[in-house]
Amino acid sequence: MIAQRLQSLRQQIGELAAQSGRNADDIRLIAVSKTRPLPDVEQAIAAGQIDFGENTVQDAMAKIPFVNNKTIQWHFIGHLQSKKARAIPGNFQWIHSIDSLKLAGKLSTAMQNAEAAQPLNALIQVNVSGETSKSGLSPQQIESFVEQVLQADYPLIAWRGLMTIGVKADASATRKVFAGLRELQQRIQQQFSLPQFDQLSMGMSGDYAEAIAEGATMIRIGTAIFGPR
Ligand SMILES: *Cc1c(COP(=O)(O)O)cnc(C)c1O
Repeated sequence: MIAQRLQSLRQQIGELAAQSGRNADDIRLIAVSKTRPLPDVEQAIAAGQIDFGENTVQDAMAKIPFVNNKTIQWHFIGHLQSKKARAIPGNFQWIHSIDSLKLAGKLSTAMQNAEAAQPLNALIQVNVSGETSKSGLSPQQIESFVEQVLQADYPLIAWRGLMTIGVKADASATRKVFAGLRELQQRIQQQFSLPQFDQLSMGMSGDYAEAIAEGATMIRIGTAIFGPR
């Protein structure tokens, strides 16, 4: 089942990319394995899946140490309390959900204390739609946030782009939110001369088509791979 769903998803990503004149290789499929047991992750790996997303440390640690495969990339996509920053080095290669200066600072310290060999790839979570239920910084806060983290000059944090969670709305409202994230990412990339700030993490099982049309470089898919939670 998982292998079949992955295969048809990859095919769809290819078609959607072609429709937008994009290269499918520029769209990273992240299999969101939160709440799923280790055997589900192993099935996906056997089907060629490389990137996995988790949204709590506890759930992730029931899987990450048991996957003995150095090519697998783990992405932290949930809200992270800064006191749990220590769980990231050595376990996750990416974090999509940085939403405070305090968390950025704690992650930097944790990476240095762990003497990490590779920097942590970091995305800033943006609440584009302004819904109060969502975490993330407002679009207006991003410029000053980036200015401050660049000033802090964290040696083991690589600032790679922006992440957002879409709205539950029609396709055109959804696209507007994703287009807003893309415009913000491009503006920040230029303004601060950050060529590596090139990632847009947006799109889930219900709205990845709109996200790909608006330039997503990472889509985070759970249900469409593993079935309903
Ligand atoms: C759960 C989750 C997803 C995946 O959601 P699906 O609708 O199951 O594809 C993506 N991103 C975040 C941040 C999540 O928490």
